[in-house]
Amino acid sequence: MAELVYIGLGSNLEQPERQLKQAVAELKLLPDSQYVKDSGIYLSKPLVADGVPADQPDYYNAVVLLETELAPAELLDQLQAIENRQHRVREQHWGPRTIDLDILLYGQQQINNERLQIPHPGLCEREFVLYPLQRLNPEMTIPGHGKLKQIIKTCPENGMRYVGEIE
Ligand code: ATP
Ligand code: CA
Ligand code: CA
Repeated sequence: MAELVYIGLGSNLEQPERQLKQAVAELKLLPDSQYVKDSGIYLSKPLVADGVPADQPDYYNAVVLLETELAPAELLDQLQAIENRQHRVREQHWGPRTIDLDILLYGQQQINNERLQIPHPGLCEREFVLYPLQRLNPEMTIPGHGKLKQIIKTCPENGMRYVGEIE
């Protein structure tokens, strides 16, 4: 059965807007999947938290909506293959990266295993996820968390701005 899936994209290295564009081109070619729409690009501040390197460039973010027949683990494999093709190097956890692709939501499913947690942890505190999701579907609910409209009220935009469409 096809599921509606939201993917979070982030980049702050090596021409980030080009990285997003490249990843979107690849997402449009995923097997057994249809590209539905995307949020366009947002420019956001890096996370500030214990363990997150400070002094990294601002992030370019977007959220993509897909319909897919891929199982969650198969989808993660595909996303990690795209990250690898865009030379994602894991030097520091939460450090700067060419591209990061997270599965934010997979239908209404809640998944918790060694490789996958869905809804994506942190989703409800991250402005660069919540505001693009709102643009795509203002009426949505986050499984286990409630209505996006309510959640977003407790998440300031933190200087984030909308940049424009992914071209
Ligand atoms: P964060 O997950 O806090 O946004 P990150 O994206 O920098 O941090 P990564 O290094 O990209 O973290 O991923 C670490 C691991 O997270 C991956 O190897 C993957 O197995 C796991 N993971 C768990 N849940 C998800 C998910 N929903 N989407 C993508 N990866 C996930
Ligand atoms: Ca991430
Ligand atoms: Ca990730």
